[in-house]
Amino acid sequence: MKAASWVSVATLLAALSASSGLLTVPLRAQSSSAAQPANAAASATQPEPVFQITPLKPVAELRRDALASKPPTEAGPFLRADLVDVTTLDPTIRLEIRYATSRNFLGTPVYTEARAFLERPAADALARASAMLHAQGYGLLIYDAYRPWYVTKIFWDATPDDKKKFVANPADGSRHNRGCAVDLTLYDLKTGRAVAMPGGYDEMSERSYASYAGGTSIERSHREVLRAAMQAQGFEVYPFEWWHFDLRGWQRYPILNLTFEQLERSPSLSSHALIQNSR
Ligand SMILES: [Zn+2]
Repeated sequence: MKAASWVSVATLLAALSASSGLLTVPLRAQSSSAAQPANAAASATQPEPVFQITPLKPVAELRRDALASKPPTEAGPFLRADLVDVTTLDPTIRLEIRYATSRNFLGTPVYTEARAFLERPAADALARASAMLHAQGYGLLIYDAYRPWYVTKIFWDATPDDKKKFVANPADGSRHNRGCAVDLTLYDLKTGRAVAMPGGYDEMSERSYASYAGGTSIERSHREVLRAAMQAQGFEVYPFEWWHFDLRGWQRYPILNLTFEQLERSPSLSSHALIQNSR
């Protein structure tokens, strides 16, 4: 969920060891329990439990404050923004936008709609990755894409201080705010089901690391198939999150704060947002 700045593995592990008291839904077995199937829930009928914190204030209150706040002013220059709904480029790209549901780390919907927008070059690259994967029997399942800046502020303001290292500071923005970051996994084209991966989405544990050596060989091979297709099309994986990919050159795009509703009403709005943001 972060991907704004990099933290050391040691910092993450230290935070993890101190974190269990605040979980309302405990993580499943840590990697030290080698006998435990790493992602058994992916093939079971019960939905996998998700990592959750208790928000510091009600999310409705945080949303009001965040919508009234302003994103940081950045010097630029930036490329002109042009956000695209990724499902319009490839209808086989499926959405499971967790922040539009209660199955996220805040335990309550934060997005008002389940939408996936990306800057056009990122959306085009994603569609190419999807086409590559079809030949191997997989489709792409999106957990999150463009995230308006005010949502990054909600995450920050909701998260206790000892966990803030896991969320992006709104003073810097998240890479998701720039429309060049996407959180995703694979689904099996035959069954329509998400494949098993070494760890769960937004799980704050070492199983999230792109280089985590645990899990089963099948889980690791799924992770590798996803990474290979995304890298071939210009994305880089975030080392601490196997599901998070940034289009190379993401720094050239501005932080945006347009809501999904605004983008729906007027898709060209994002190209004007740059002008407003640079004032
Ligand atoms: Zn992400």
